[in-house]
Amino acid sequence: MDVKNFLYMYTMDRRKSITNELTDIIGLDWNLRDLLFEATEKIDYGCRFDANGLCYNYRKDEVNEQSYKCCCHSCYRFVGYLNYIRPIDIKQIAYKFKKDVGFWREGKGCVLPRKLRSNTCVKHHCHTELLNAKDRYLLTLLKSHQVKPLKNKHTKLDFDWQGEIDALKRVLDNSIRYATRVSKLDLFLETRSKHFIVR
Ligand code: SF4
Ligand code: SF4
Repeated sequence: MDVKNFLYMYTMDRRKSITNELTDIIGLDWNLRDLLFEATEKIDYGCRFDANGLCYNYRKDEVNEQSYKCCCHSCYRFVGYLNYIRPIDIKQIAYKFKKDVGFWREGKGCVLPRKLRSNTCVKHHCHTELLNAKDRYLLTLLKSHQVKPLKNKHTKLDFDWQGEIDALKRVLDNSIRYATRVSKLDLFLETRSKHFIVR
């Protein structure tokens, strides 16, 4: 969709805004948000499509035909659940948005890179059993309500979200090089995830 039509449609919904402010992930700045969202590219969410482009998980729902598409069947209506978009990302997002299907494509699923997806979409998964400790920890950092809560193995205390984010910020320590930030994050996730168990 061209940018003009996309913006017209997007701004019709008053809940949606074009802003540089992060509104639904308290405590994260864009750099950190981007880093964490990109790290989810390595997670196997277990999404598989058959030869007809149907998600194996949702095609079993014979009552609601909409569900034959997959969990993304409302993508067009809710514009990928994106409640805010950075001005710099508008062009890329608009061009990937199509009438009726939004960002979803048959046989493929979502065509938006994770960095550009909404928090809702990045967190969503059907197969918790496929997630390893590191994946669960990362999704918990994104404050997923769909991941079972984590508890500290040693203290038995609940996951201290702000404490973990502060620790991550210290580890990244204003590293500017992207590759350095990625490898520091990877090591952080590996190490910290060992301290937690799923309740
Ligand atoms: S998350 Fe969506 S696409 Fe993936 S398995 Fe579940 S319903 Fe299918
Ligand atoms: S994951 Fe992608 S295709 Fe699915 S609802 Fe979100 S933006 Fe749309």
